Amino acid sequence: MASRLRGHHPQAHECTGGRPERFHCPARPHANIGPMASPEPVLTAPTAPPTEQTKPTEHTGIGKPRVSRRIGSILPSATLAVDAKAKALKAAGRPVIGFGAGEPDFATPQHIVEAAITACRQPRFHRYTPAAGLPELREAIAAATQRNSGLVCKGDDVLVTNGGKQAVYEAMAALLDPGDEVLLPAPYWTTYPEAIRLAGGVPVDVVADESTGYLVSVDQLAAHVTPRTKMLLFCSPSNPTGAVYPPDQIAEIGRWALGEGLWVVTDEIYEHFVYGDAQHVSMPVVVPELAQRCVVVNGVAKTFAMTGWRVGWMIAPPDVITAATNLHSHSTSNVANVSQAAALAALNGGLDDVLMMRSAFDRRRQMMVAMLRVIPGVACPEPQGAFYAYPCIRTLLGRELRGRTPTTSAELATLILEEVEVAAVPGEAFGTDGYLRLSYALGDDDLVEGITRIQGLLTELS
Ligand code: PMP
Repeated sequence: MASRLRGHHPQAHECTGGRPERFHCPARPHANIGPMASPEPVLTAPTAPPTEQTKPTEHTGIGKPRVSRRIGSILPSATLAVDAKAKALKAAGRPVIGFGAGEPDFATPQHIVEAAITACRQPRFHRYTPAAGLPELREAIAAATQRNSGLVCKGDDVLVTNGGKQAVYEAMAALLDPGDEVLLPAPYWTTYPEAIRLAGGVPVDVVADESTGYLVSVDQLAAHVTPRTKMLLFCSPSNPTGAVYPPDQIAEIGRWALGEGLWVVTDEIYEHFVYGDAQHVSMPVVVPELAQRCVVVNGVAKTFAMTGWRVGWMIAPPDVITAATNLHSHSTSNVANVSQAAALAALNGGLDDVLMMRSAFDRRRQMMVAMLRVIPGVACPEPQGAFYAYPCIRTLLGRELRGRTPTTSAELATLILEEVEVAAVPGEAFGTDGYLRLSYALGDDDLVEGITRIQGLLTELS
Protein backbone atom coordinates (compact mmCIF):
# COMPACT_ATOMS: atom_id res chain seq x y z
CA MET A 1 0.00 0.00 0.00
CA ALA A 2 2.78 2.39 0.93
CA SER A 3 4.47 2.23 -2.44
CA ARG A 4 1.19 2.64 -4.28
CA LEU A 5 0.39 5.75 -2.32
CA ARG A 6 3.91 7.05 -2.57
CA GLY A 7 3.49 7.00 -6.30
CA HIS A 8 0.14 8.67 -6.11
CA HIS A 9 0.80 11.60 -3.82
CA PRO A 10 3.51 14.05 -4.69
CA GLN A 11 4.21 15.08 -1.11
CA ALA A 12 4.54 11.55 0.29
CA HIS A 13 6.43 11.46 3.57
CA GLU A 14 8.45 8.73 5.27
CA CYS A 15 7.01 9.54 8.65
CA THR A 16 3.51 8.64 7.50
CA GLY A 17 4.55 5.39 5.91
CA GLY A 18 4.70 6.89 2.44
CA ARG A 19 1.45 8.73 2.90
CA PRO A 20 1.08 12.46 2.52
CA GLU A 21 1.68 14.08 5.84
CA ARG A 22 -1.68 15.63 6.44
CA PHE A 23 -1.30 16.21 10.13
CA HIS A 24 1.87 16.56 12.11
CA CYS A 25 3.60 13.32 12.95
CA PRO A 26 3.53 13.45 16.76
CA ALA A 27 -0.26 13.11 16.52
CA ARG A 28 0.16 9.55 15.23
CA PRO A 29 -0.23 7.05 18.02
CA HIS A 30 2.19 4.11 17.96
CA ALA A 31 4.48 6.04 15.64
CA ASN A 32 7.37 4.15 17.20
CA ILE A 33 5.76 0.73 16.98
CA GLY A 34 4.22 1.02 13.55
CA PRO A 35 5.32 -0.46 10.28
CA MET A 36 8.76 1.18 10.31
CA ALA A 37 9.71 0.14 13.85
CA SER A 38 12.22 -2.64 14.44
CA PRO A 39 10.28 -5.85 14.63
CA GLU A 40 9.25 -7.51 17.87
CA PRO A 41 11.55 -5.59 20.28
CA VAL A 42 10.12 -7.27 23.39
CA LEU A 43 10.68 -10.90 22.40
CA THR A 44 13.51 -12.81 24.06
CA ALA A 45 15.34 -15.80 22.60
CA PRO A 46 13.88 -19.20 23.49
CA THR A 47 15.79 -20.90 26.31
CA ALA A 48 15.31 -24.47 25.05
CA PRO A 49 17.15 -25.59 21.90
CA PRO A 50 14.93 -25.05 18.94
CA THR A 51 12.78 -27.97 17.91
CA GLU A 52 10.76 -28.30 14.75
CA GLN A 53 7.89 -26.61 16.59
CA THR A 54 9.80 -23.71 18.16
CA LYS A 55 12.36 -22.99 15.43
CA PRO A 56 11.56 -19.60 13.91
CA THR A 57 10.54 -20.05 10.34
CA GLU A 58 9.17 -17.65 7.78
CA HIS A 59 5.73 -18.82 8.92
CA THR A 60 6.05 -17.50 12.46
CA GLY A 61 5.06 -13.99 13.51
CA ILE A 62 8.71 -13.11 14.24
CA GLY A 63 9.88 -10.32 12.01
CA LYS A 64 6.40 -9.14 11.25
CA PRO A 65 5.14 -5.72 12.42
CA ARG A 66 3.24 -5.87 15.72
CA VAL A 67 0.42 -3.73 14.37
CA SER A 68 -0.69 -4.61 10.86
CA ARG A 69 0.50 -2.32 8.09
CA ARG A 70 -3.09 -1.76 7.04
CA ILE A 71 -4.26 -0.51 10.45
CA GLY A 72 -0.91 1.02 11.39
CA SER A 73 -1.22 3.40 8.47
CA ILE A 74 -4.53 4.89 9.64
CA LEU A 75 -4.24 8.42 10.95
CA PRO A 76 -6.18 9.30 14.09
CA SER A 77 -9.26 11.41 13.51
CA ALA A 78 -7.85 14.94 13.59
CA THR A 79 -11.23 16.42 14.38
CA LEU A 80 -11.69 14.18 17.42
CA ALA A 81 -8.06 14.84 18.43
CA VAL A 82 -8.54 18.63 18.42
CA ASP A 83 -11.80 18.29 20.30
CA ALA A 84 -10.19 16.00 22.89
CA LYS A 85 -7.24 18.39 23.37
CA ALA A 86 -9.60 21.33 23.88
CA LYS A 87 -11.75 19.35 26.33
CA ALA A 88 -8.67 18.22 28.27
CA LEU A 89 -7.42 21.80 28.59
CA LYS A 90 -10.88 22.87 29.68
CA ALA A 91 -11.02 20.09 32.28
CA ALA A 92 -7.65 21.38 33.57
CA GLY A 93 -9.32 24.73 34.20
CA ARG A 94 -8.18 26.60 31.09
CA PRO A 95 -10.74 28.95 29.50
CA VAL A 96 -10.53 27.17 26.15
CA ILE A 97 -13.11 27.80 23.46
CA GLY A 98 -13.53 24.84 21.14
CA PHE A 99 -14.54 25.26 17.51
CA GLY A 100 -13.53 21.67 16.79
CA ALA A 101 -16.72 19.80 17.59
CA GLY A 102 -18.70 18.24 14.79
CA GLU A 103 -21.85 17.95 16.84
CA PRO A 104 -24.81 20.09 17.86
CA ASP A 105 -24.44 21.65 21.29
CA PHE A 106 -28.11 20.89 22.08
CA ALA A 107 -29.35 18.01 24.22
CA THR A 108 -31.29 15.22 22.54
CA PRO A 109 -35.01 16.18 22.62
CA GLN A 110 -36.82 14.86 25.68
CA HIS A 111 -39.40 12.69 23.88
CA ILE A 112 -36.56 10.74 22.27
CA VAL A 113 -34.86 10.20 25.62
CA GLU A 114 -38.18 9.02 27.10
CA ALA A 115 -38.59 6.48 24.30
CA ALA A 116 -35.15 5.10 25.11
CA ILE A 117 -36.03 4.80 28.81
CA THR A 118 -39.18 2.88 27.90
CA ALA A 119 -37.16 0.61 25.59
CA CYS A 120 -34.72 -0.14 28.40
CA ARG A 121 -37.55 -1.69 30.37
CA GLN A 122 -38.65 -4.05 27.58
CA PRO A 123 -36.95 -7.47 27.68
CA ARG A 124 -37.27 -7.85 23.90
CA PHE A 125 -34.72 -5.05 23.60
CA HIS A 126 -32.35 -6.91 25.92
CA ARG A 127 -31.75 -9.51 23.20
CA TYR A 128 -30.08 -9.73 19.83
CA THR A 129 -32.26 -8.39 17.06
CA PRO A 130 -31.86 -8.67 13.27
CA ALA A 131 -28.42 -7.49 12.10
CA ALA A 132 -29.86 -5.11 9.51
CA GLY A 133 -31.88 -3.26 12.15
CA LEU A 134 -35.28 -3.36 13.85
CA PRO A 135 -37.84 -3.88 11.07
CA GLU A 136 -39.97 -0.99 12.35
CA LEU A 137 -36.96 1.34 12.30
CA ARG A 138 -35.99 0.30 8.77
CA GLU A 139 -39.55 1.08 7.67
CA ALA A 140 -39.48 4.43 9.51
CA ILE A 141 -36.18 5.35 7.85
CA ALA A 142 -37.61 4.56 4.42
CA ALA A 143 -40.70 6.65 5.18
CA ALA A 144 -38.68 9.58 6.57
CA THR A 145 -36.35 9.49 3.57
CA GLN A 146 -39.30 9.69 1.22
CA ARG A 147 -40.80 12.57 3.24
CA ASN A 148 -37.56 14.51 3.50
CA SER A 149 -35.77 14.03 0.20
CA GLY A 150 -38.40 12.37 -1.99
CA LEU A 151 -36.32 9.21 -2.50
CA VAL A 152 -38.74 6.30 -2.81
CA CYS A 153 -37.46 3.26 -0.95
CA LYS A 154 -38.64 0.53 1.40
CA GLY A 155 -37.43 -0.93 4.70
CA ASP A 156 -35.60 -3.76 2.92
CA ASP A 157 -33.39 -1.20 1.18
CA VAL A 158 -32.06 0.05 4.54
CA LEU A 159 -29.18 -1.17 6.73
CA VAL A 160 -29.09 0.41 10.19
CA THR A 161 -25.50 1.09 11.28
CA ASN A 162 -23.54 2.38 14.26
CA GLY A 163 -23.64 5.94 13.03
CA GLY A 164 -23.24 7.28 9.53
CA LYS A 165 -19.54 6.61 9.96
CA GLN A 166 -20.06 2.85 9.95
CA ALA A 167 -22.36 3.20 6.94
CA VAL A 168 -19.47 4.87 5.07
CA TYR A 169 -17.06 2.07 6.07
CA GLU A 170 -19.48 -0.68 5.16
CA ALA A 171 -20.36 0.92 1.83
CA MET A 172 -16.66 1.10 0.92
CA ALA A 173 -16.06 -2.47 2.09
CA ALA A 174 -19.05 -3.74 0.13
CA LEU A 175 -18.17 -1.96 -3.10
CA LEU A 176 -14.39 -1.63 -3.44
CA ASP A 177 -11.80 -4.11 -4.58
CA PRO A 178 -8.07 -3.47 -4.13
CA GLY A 179 -6.91 -0.74 -6.49
CA ASP A 180 -10.37 0.66 -7.23
CA GLU A 181 -10.16 4.43 -7.40
CA VAL A 182 -12.65 6.72 -5.70
CA LEU A 183 -13.12 10.31 -6.81
CA LEU A 184 -13.06 12.33 -3.63
CA PRO A 185 -13.96 16.01 -3.83
CA ALA A 186 -11.70 17.89 -1.41
CA PRO A 187 -11.90 19.44 1.13
CA TYR A 188 -13.44 16.19 2.36
CA TRP A 189 -14.64 14.79 5.66
CA THR A 190 -11.56 13.39 7.37
CA THR A 191 -12.89 9.81 7.61
CA TYR A 192 -13.49 9.27 3.88
CA PRO A 193 -9.93 8.59 2.69
CA GLU A 194 -9.28 6.26 5.62
CA ALA A 195 -12.45 4.28 4.91
CA ILE A 196 -11.53 4.03 1.23
CA ARG A 197 -7.98 2.85 1.98
CA LEU A 198 -9.11 0.32 4.57
CA ALA A 199 -11.27 -1.26 1.88
CA GLY A 200 -8.22 -1.43 -0.41
CA GLY A 201 -9.39 1.49 -2.54
CA VAL A 202 -7.41 4.51 -3.64
CA PRO A 203 -8.76 7.99 -2.88
CA VAL A 204 -8.23 10.41 -5.76
CA ASP A 205 -8.55 13.98 -4.51
CA VAL A 206 -10.43 16.41 -6.72
CA VAL A 207 -9.68 19.73 -5.09
CA ALA A 208 -11.96 22.75 -5.08
CA ASP A 209 -11.04 26.02 -3.40
CA GLU A 210 -12.77 29.14 -2.14
CA SER A 211 -12.95 30.62 -5.65
CA THR A 212 -15.76 28.18 -6.54
CA GLY A 213 -17.25 28.09 -3.05
CA TYR A 214 -15.58 24.67 -2.67
CA LEU A 215 -17.73 23.06 -5.38
CA VAL A 216 -16.12 20.68 -7.89
CA SER A 217 -17.27 20.73 -11.50
CA VAL A 218 -17.97 17.83 -13.84
CA ASP A 219 -14.93 18.87 -15.88
CA GLN A 220 -12.71 18.57 -12.82
CA LEU A 221 -14.14 15.16 -11.95
CA ALA A 222 -13.81 13.96 -15.55
CA ALA A 223 -10.14 14.97 -15.59
CA HIS A 224 -9.45 12.51 -12.76
CA VAL A 225 -11.21 9.46 -14.24
CA THR A 226 -9.05 6.46 -15.15
CA PRO A 227 -9.97 2.89 -16.14
CA ARG A 228 -9.69 2.05 -12.42
CA THR A 229 -12.27 4.60 -11.25
CA LYS A 230 -15.25 2.90 -9.63
CA MET A 231 -16.92 5.46 -7.41
CA LEU A 232 -17.64 9.08 -6.62
CA LEU A 233 -17.94 9.90 -2.92
CA PHE A 234 -20.17 12.95 -2.68
CA CYS A 235 -21.20 15.05 0.32
CA SER A 236 -23.63 17.96 0.26
CA PRO A 237 -24.09 19.89 2.53
CA SER A 238 -20.40 19.47 3.11
CA ASN A 239 -18.32 18.84 6.14
CA PRO A 240 -15.90 20.71 6.37
CA THR A 241 -16.81 23.61 4.06
CA GLY A 242 -20.55 24.04 4.54
CA ALA A 243 -20.90 24.16 0.75
CA VAL A 244 -24.24 23.06 -0.68
CA TYR A 245 -24.36 22.04 -4.34
CA PRO A 246 -27.18 23.72 -6.28
CA PRO A 247 -29.81 21.26 -7.59
CA ASP A 248 -28.82 21.65 -11.26
CA GLN A 249 -25.17 20.95 -10.48
CA ILE A 250 -26.13 17.83 -8.51
CA ALA A 251 -28.20 16.67 -11.48
CA GLU A 252 -25.31 17.36 -13.85
CA ILE A 253 -22.85 15.42 -11.69
CA GLY A 254 -25.34 12.57 -11.28
CA ARG A 255 -25.97 12.28 -15.02
CA TRP A 256 -22.25 12.35 -15.67
CA ALA A 257 -21.58 9.59 -13.09
CA LEU A 258 -24.36 7.53 -14.62
CA GLY A 259 -22.86 7.95 -18.07
CA GLU A 260 -19.43 6.89 -16.75
CA GLY A 261 -20.92 3.81 -15.08
CA LEU A 262 -19.68 4.97 -11.66
CA TRP A 263 -21.14 4.19 -8.28
CA VAL A 264 -22.07 7.20 -6.20
CA VAL A 265 -22.01 7.17 -2.41
CA THR A 266 -23.85 10.30 -1.33
CA ASP A 267 -23.61 11.40 2.28
CA GLU A 268 -26.71 13.37 3.24
CA ILE A 269 -26.18 13.54 6.99
CA TYR A 270 -26.56 17.36 7.02
CA GLU A 271 -29.68 17.39 4.81
CA HIS A 272 -31.73 19.45 7.27
CA PHE A 273 -29.08 22.09 7.87
CA VAL A 274 -29.32 24.38 4.87
CA TYR A 275 -29.72 28.16 5.09
CA GLY A 276 -30.91 31.11 3.05
CA ASP A 277 -31.81 30.11 -0.49
CA ALA A 278 -29.82 26.88 -0.40
CA GLN A 279 -31.75 23.72 -0.97
CA HIS A 280 -30.78 20.13 -0.29
CA VAL A 281 -31.52 17.69 -3.08
CA SER A 282 -30.65 14.03 -3.19
CA MET A 283 -28.72 12.86 -6.26
CA PRO A 284 -30.77 9.68 -6.90
CA VAL A 285 -33.94 11.77 -6.74
CA VAL A 286 -32.85 14.17 -9.46
CA VAL A 287 -31.23 11.34 -11.47
CA PRO A 288 -33.50 8.36 -10.72
CA GLU A 289 -31.65 5.95 -13.05
CA LEU A 290 -28.65 6.32 -10.74
CA ALA A 291 -30.50 4.59 -7.87
CA GLN A 292 -29.23 1.18 -9.01
CA ARG A 293 -25.64 2.34 -8.49
CA CYS A 294 -26.11 4.63 -5.54
CA VAL A 295 -25.71 4.38 -1.77
CA VAL A 296 -27.27 7.09 0.41
CA VAL A 297 -25.68 7.60 3.84
CA ASN A 298 -27.58 9.35 6.60
CA GLY A 299 -28.32 9.18 10.34
CA VAL A 300 -29.93 10.80 13.35
CA ALA A 301 -26.69 12.20 14.85
CA LYS A 302 -26.79 15.74 13.48
CA THR A 303 -30.50 16.10 12.74
CA PHE A 304 -31.68 15.24 16.24
CA ALA A 305 -28.60 16.11 18.32
CA MET A 306 -27.94 12.38 18.83
CA THR A 307 -24.22 12.01 18.12
CA GLY A 308 -23.66 9.81 21.19
CA TRP A 309 -26.49 7.38 20.41
CA ARG A 310 -24.71 5.97 17.34
CA VAL A 311 -27.48 5.36 14.82
CA GLY A 312 -27.01 5.87 11.11
CA TRP A 313 -27.94 3.96 7.98
CA MET A 314 -27.34 3.30 4.35
CA ILE A 315 -29.95 2.98 1.64
CA ALA A 316 -28.71 0.89 -1.27
CA PRO A 317 -29.67 -1.64 -3.96
CA PRO A 318 -30.47 -5.17 -2.66
CA ASP A 319 -27.11 -6.80 -3.49
CA VAL A 320 -25.20 -4.08 -1.64
CA ILE A 321 -27.54 -4.22 1.36
CA THR A 322 -27.09 -8.00 1.50
CA ALA A 323 -23.30 -7.75 1.27
CA ALA A 324 -23.03 -4.95 3.81
CA THR A 325 -25.45 -6.71 6.18
CA ASN A 326 -23.34 -9.88 6.03
CA LEU A 327 -20.27 -7.84 6.97
CA HIS A 328 -22.23 -6.04 9.68
CA SER A 329 -23.49 -9.37 11.11
CA HIS A 330 -19.91 -10.54 11.65
CA SER A 331 -18.58 -7.28 13.07
CA THR A 332 -21.06 -5.54 15.33
CA SER A 333 -24.38 -7.46 14.92
CA ASN A 334 -27.37 -5.21 15.53
CA VAL A 335 -27.04 -1.59 16.65
CA ALA A 336 -27.91 -1.24 20.36
CA ASN A 337 -31.68 -1.68 20.56
CA VAL A 338 -32.21 1.18 23.00
CA SER A 339 -30.55 3.51 20.52
CA GLN A 340 -32.64 2.10 17.70
CA ALA A 341 -35.80 2.72 19.72
CA ALA A 342 -34.64 6.29 20.33
CA ALA A 343 -33.99 6.77 16.60
CA LEU A 344 -37.47 5.44 15.85
CA ALA A 345 -39.00 8.04 18.18
CA ALA A 346 -36.86 10.73 16.55
CA LEU A 347 -37.97 9.88 13.02
CA ASN A 348 -41.63 9.58 13.99
CA GLY A 349 -41.62 12.75 16.08
CA GLY A 350 -41.54 15.54 13.52
CA LEU A 351 -38.95 18.19 12.80
CA ASP A 352 -39.79 20.98 15.29
CA ASP A 353 -36.57 20.54 17.27
CA VAL A 354 -34.55 20.45 14.07
CA LEU A 355 -36.06 23.75 12.94
CA MET A 356 -35.18 25.33 16.28
CA MET A 357 -31.56 24.17 15.98
CA ARG A 358 -31.39 25.27 12.37
CA SER A 359 -32.41 28.81 13.20
CA ALA A 360 -29.81 28.98 16.00
CA PHE A 361 -27.10 27.67 13.64
CA ASP A 362 -28.15 30.14 10.97
CA ARG A 363 -27.78 33.06 13.39
CA ARG A 364 -24.36 31.85 14.55
CA ARG A 365 -23.25 31.20 10.99
CA GLN A 366 -23.89 34.79 10.02
CA MET A 367 -22.18 36.10 13.14
CA MET A 368 -19.13 33.91 12.60
CA VAL A 369 -18.68 34.72 8.92
CA ALA A 370 -19.06 38.47 9.52
CA MET A 371 -16.45 38.37 12.30
CA LEU A 372 -13.98 36.25 10.32
CA ARG A 373 -14.18 38.50 7.28
CA VAL A 374 -13.03 41.44 9.39
CA ILE A 375 -9.60 39.81 9.85
CA PRO A 376 -7.19 41.12 7.20
CA GLY A 377 -6.06 38.31 4.88
CA VAL A 378 -8.85 35.89 5.77
CA ALA A 379 -11.22 34.86 2.96
CA CYS A 380 -14.38 33.11 4.11
CA PRO A 381 -17.00 32.02 1.59
CA GLU A 382 -20.45 31.98 3.16
CA PRO A 383 -21.27 28.42 4.21
CA GLN A 384 -24.77 27.49 3.12
CA GLY A 385 -25.19 24.29 5.06
CA ALA A 386 -24.02 22.00 7.89
CA PHE A 387 -22.49 23.94 10.81
CA TYR A 388 -18.97 24.77 9.73
CA ALA A 389 -17.10 27.73 8.29
CA TYR A 390 -13.95 27.04 6.30
CA PRO A 391 -11.92 30.24 6.06
CA CYS A 392 -8.83 30.38 3.87
CA ILE A 393 -5.85 31.59 5.93
CA ARG A 394 -3.17 30.91 3.32
CA THR A 395 -1.97 34.51 3.13
CA LEU A 396 -1.27 34.51 6.88
CA LEU A 397 1.23 31.66 6.66
CA GLY A 398 4.98 32.23 6.60
CA ARG A 399 4.69 35.42 8.64
CA GLU A 400 6.02 35.97 12.13
CA LEU A 401 3.50 35.98 14.92
CA ARG A 402 4.49 36.20 18.58
CA GLY A 403 7.99 34.95 17.84
CA ARG A 404 6.91 32.01 15.69
CA THR A 405 6.41 31.64 11.95
CA PRO A 406 3.68 29.12 11.17
CA THR A 407 4.01 27.75 7.66
CA THR A 408 1.08 25.34 7.67
CA SER A 409 -2.46 25.56 8.94
CA ALA A 410 -1.62 22.82 11.47
CA GLU A 411 1.11 25.07 12.89
CA LEU A 412 -1.18 28.07 12.90
CA ALA A 413 -3.93 26.09 14.67
CA THR A 414 -1.41 25.04 17.33
CA LEU A 415 -0.28 28.64 17.76
CA ILE A 416 -3.88 29.84 18.11
CA LEU A 417 -4.60 27.16 20.70
CA GLU A 418 -1.47 27.94 22.70
CA GLU A 419 -1.61 31.73 22.49
CA VAL A 420 -5.33 32.49 22.85
CA GLU A 421 -6.77 29.12 23.89
CA VAL A 422 -9.07 28.66 20.95
CA ALA A 423 -9.30 25.28 19.19
CA ALA A 424 -9.86 25.06 15.43
CA VAL A 425 -9.21 22.10 13.12
CA PRO A 426 -6.45 22.65 10.54
CA GLY A 427 -7.29 22.14 6.88
CA GLU A 428 -4.75 19.31 6.53
CA ALA A 429 -7.32 17.10 8.24
CA PHE A 430 -9.60 17.64 5.25
CA GLY A 431 -7.01 17.35 2.50
CA THR A 432 -6.25 21.05 2.02
CA ASP A 433 -3.51 22.97 3.83
CA GLY A 434 -4.11 26.72 4.15
CA TYR A 435 -7.53 26.58 5.83
CA LEU A 436 -9.13 26.20 9.23
CA ARG A 437 -12.43 24.55 10.02
CA LEU A 438 -14.51 26.28 12.67
CA SER A 439 -17.71 24.67 13.90
CA TYR A 440 -20.48 27.09 14.87
CA ALA A 441 -22.32 24.46 16.88
CA LEU A 442 -21.50 26.20 20.14
CA GLY A 443 -23.18 28.87 22.28
CA ASP A 444 -23.42 32.44 20.95
CA ASP A 445 -21.34 33.96 23.75
CA ASP A 446 -18.53 31.44 23.34
CA LEU A 447 -18.62 31.98 19.59
CA VAL A 448 -18.20 35.74 19.91
CA GLU A 449 -15.50 35.38 22.57
CA GLY A 450 -13.56 32.79 20.57
CA ILE A 451 -13.59 34.67 17.27
CA THR A 452 -12.74 37.91 19.08
CA ARG A 453 -9.63 36.21 20.48
CA ILE A 454 -8.66 34.95 17.01
CA GLN A 455 -9.25 38.43 15.57
CA GLY A 456 -7.03 39.95 18.25
CA LEU A 457 -4.23 37.50 17.57
CA LEU A 458 -4.30 37.50 13.78
CA THR A 459 -4.67 41.25 13.38
CA GLU A 460 -1.24 41.51 15.03
CA LEU A 461 0.03 40.38 11.62
CA SER A 462 -1.20 43.47 9.84
N1 PMP B 1 -20.77 12.13 7.40
C1 PMP B 1 -20.30 13.35 7.66
C2 PMP B 1 -20.07 14.28 6.53
C3 PMP B 1 -20.03 13.74 8.98
O1 PMP B 1 -19.57 14.97 9.21
C4 PMP B 1 -20.23 12.82 10.02
C5 PMP B 1 -19.92 13.17 11.46
N2 PMP B 1 -18.92 14.06 11.67
C6 PMP B 1 -20.74 11.56 9.70
C7 PMP B 1 -21.00 11.24 8.37
C8 PMP B 1 -20.97 10.48 10.70
O2 PMP B 1 -21.79 10.79 11.73
P1 PMP B 1 -22.20 9.71 12.80
O3 PMP B 1 -21.29 8.53 12.65
O4 PMP B 1 -22.05 10.38 14.11
O5 PMP B 1 -23.62 9.33 12.46
